[in-house]
Amino acid sequence: MTKLTNLTMTEALKGLSSKAFTATELTKAHIDAMQTEVARGTKSYITETPELALAQASAADARYTKGDARAMDGLPIGMKDLYCTKGVRTTAASKILDNFVPTYESTVSQKLFDAGCVMLGKTNLDEFAMGSTTITSAYGTSINPWSGKDPARANRQLVPGGSSGGSSAAVAARIAMAATATDTGGSIRQPASLTGTVGIKPTYGRCSRWGIVAFASSLDQAGPMTRSVEDAALMLREMSGYDPKDSTSANKAVPDFTAMCGQSIKGMRIGIPREYRIDGIDPEVNALWQKGADMLRDAGAEIIDISLPHTKYALPVYYIIAPAEASSNLARYDGVRFGVRVEGEGLNGMYENTRGAGFGKEVRRRILMGTYVLSAGYYDAYYLKAQRVRRCIRNDFDTAFAKCDAILTPASPSTAFGIGEKMDDPIQMYLEDVFTVTLNLAGLPGICVPVSLAQNGLPFGLQLVGRAFDEETLFKAASALEKAASFTALPPMVAA
Ligand code: GLN
Repeated sequence: MTKLTNLTMTEALKGLSSKAFTATELTKAHIDAMQTEVARGTKSYITETPELALAQASAADARYTKGDARAMDGLPIGMKDLYCTKGVRTTAASKILDNFVPTYESTVSQKLFDAGCVMLGKTNLDEFAMGSTTITSAYGTSINPWSGKDPARANRQLVPGGSSGGSSAAVAARIAMAATATDTGGSIRQPASLTGTVGIKPTYGRCSRWGIVAFASSLDQAGPMTRSVEDAALMLREMSGYDPKDSTSANKAVPDFTAMCGQSIKGMRIGIPREYRIDGIDPEVNALWQKGADMLRDAGAEIIDISLPHTKYALPVYYIIAPAEASSNLARYDGVRFGVRVEGEGLNGMYENTRGAGFGKEVRRRILMGTYVLSAGYYDAYYLKAQRVRRCIRNDFDTAFAKCDAILTPASPSTAFGIGEKMDDPIQMYLEDVFTVTLNLAGLPGICVPVSLAQNGLPFGLQLVGRAFDEETLFKAASALEKAASFTALPPMVAA
């Protein structure tokens, strides 16, 4: 029999319903796996919650016995440490929230608990979700379980992507069946690509942001990371839905996304945006992208050339809007209401000392950029201009979606890189987001599916982009791509 920790959630649900194993056994298998030295070495979790997990598993078992099990009953998952969890420390991977224990539960984590999920712990991330590597976490860098695979970096540990790097590492390392994540500019899809997992950022407004520590409110979205497209469909269905507590939450019915998996994509029109063929990118990226397009064509789709002419402005626009919103959202960490306080001379002295000690370098850089672009003299030149170009980016997609039903692109410009690489120059790191930020700016859904191992032995995923609130088409296409790619490789630290 397959090891319990290697099952997908969909497979595990069958075993739980048929009483092949209990939720407690499934949870214990994950807790044991989490506590091994190799697993701890991935620094996937900031806080482990084994007692809570066992209590939740036992409640799930009682429901299975009574015959009233819920949609995700007894499935052990990781929770990105950006989701406020009642009574469980929530750090956002920042020193400034080192001692923060929320008195409330985020809407999405509550929904998952209501669906029966078991929480194994809070997963690591870049500080306040700012980054693409998990290196900016104040609690240590998460390690990609695929480390050791690339011969050129045999003695170097690889990043699991970011900001949801703890979630991607935990799912790839089989120390969580799935994990929650968030995506402001690519933080679900890029780590999925770098770890061979599936990640979907739904349409803006699909999941409530209430109780999730805010980075850039007009871009942030919650979403799942899983090991199969069907698992992603299941988990997203349970995470989604209107929430009156989030004024940007969409009052739309949530379809059963799982019903889309395995459906035919005959006649589906898949657009290939020519502007995403970026100069200087590794030719293998383009070759794997072509391979993905061929797989979809063989499955019955029609491949169409499309244009998204404002793509080249997406990164500059993102790196104005995201820091602007972040600088305003992070103003609340002043040592008065949340987290850590460092005393100083007078009120201003206390603010300065608290924020100086509590925020890491990248967060400070973003606050400086953000306050600069919002300042009276520069607001029109930067922030307002960026908002206008953002509209043009959205219009590009609207035009493209008149010709096609979904768009296929890479999710990241490279496979996983080594810790320390791309670190000297922040601009180089910001390029990690080149294929992903456009969707956040336009509010559109995107899913990343592993399609292949690259020549260096590391996983590589492709991104499918859909119309707003049309995750159904995405799940159809992603499921067809998953089937054609049949990606079954395991990271070296995971035994079959
Ligand atoms: N890497 C991007 C950034 O640093 C995106 C992060 C995210 O999606 N949270 O802002």
